[in-house]
Amino acid sequence: MISEYLKSVLQCPACRAQANGGTPKLEPDDEGMRCPSCGRLFPALAERGYLDLRPPAGTFESLTEYAEDAFLYRTDAIRPLFLSARIKMDMMLKMLGPSSNDRILDIGCGNGRFLYFTRPSCGQLVGIDAGAHFAPEPMATVDLARGDIRLLPFEDASFDKAYSLDVLEHLDEEGVDAMLAEARRVLRSGGKLFLYSHVMMSSRLAAFQRGVNKTVRWLDKRGLVDNAPERERKSDHQNVLRSYEQLDDVLVRAGFRIAGIRYYNVVFKAIFEDLMLPLVEHNFFGGAKKREDREKAPHHNGDIRDGDIHDGHDHVSTKPEVGRWVHAPLLVASQLMKLDVMLFGRVRTGPFFLLLEAV
Ligand SMILES: [Zn+2]
Repeated sequence: MISEYLKSVLQCPACRAQANGGTPKLEPDDEGMRCPSCGRLFPALAERGYLDLRPPAGTFESLTEYAEDAFLYRTDAIRPLFLSARIKMDMMLKMLGPSSNDRILDIGCGNGRFLYFTRPSCGQLVGIDAGAHFAPEPMATVDLARGDIRLLPFEDASFDKAYSLDVLEHLDEEGVDAMLAEARRVLRSGGKLFLYSHVMMSSRLAAFQRGVNKTVRWLDKRGLVDNAPERERKSDHQNVLRSYEQLDDVLVRAGFRIAGIRYYNVVFKAIFEDLMLPLVEHNFFGGAKKREDREKAPHHNGDIRDGDIHDGHDHVSTKPEVGRWVHAPLLVASQLMKLDVMLFGRVRTGPFFLLLEAV
């Protein structure tokens, strides 16, 4: 949606990108929002479910490709958050402590699923993402904008809190600096930012996860699981944060101080989400068929044979519609996976839940 609050905090990303003096406030127009200075129109799209506030093409040399990441997970309707997605949301709620008086920004919100599920505990909620793969539920219930997180189209101090989950690892070095500087700018002094990402180091406990990964690759080779989606998910990671020392420097430069940190050693996650779930899904819920179809798909070899031509039904999904009864075991697994944070949350390792204060 596009609320009056969202409209009230917008400034022109084109004028800021070109640094042609001032940062004009955008004004409502029949088709969206317009800049009174440069005259540029920022259209309201998808039946006015979100605004397109991207800066002009060519503002940044490197394109953020993580938008495609969200595309892989695009579904028509939002599914409940389970497993590590659930852990991330719960850690965000616990550490950031959003309240109904807070103005909150989700930086790199993907399809908007975290916004949608945290909505009951938040006040004004705005999401921004480079892609436009917003799901219908968040589009109907929270403010959404398509934009570049390295040049946020919001006025200074427009938000009390912000969060960004699984985003930093997709940015290059300049991108990380720009994103954090922009997050600082749109937060008020004393405002809070919650981050989930990782640096390139690992604790001794990570040996367990490496063992599980090795097992999964072994099973993959024998056709017992399908590891391709996971490989694809990680394929565009830039991982420019090498160490916690480097992260400290980056945070100080951006104007933040660390208010709290927990680490994510994934022992129970490795068992449930990385090993058991793919095995169950692949062997009992049609994953094997899906993989076969993908490998047989004509675009893989450019050679279309008669046998490959499916009718429309085959295309819909080879995965049977799983009933709500599946939610129960997933919920139990999600609860057990909380042990990773409860037991090992203070053991320093790569992935981190970080609470920052804007100084
Ligand atoms: Zn302008």
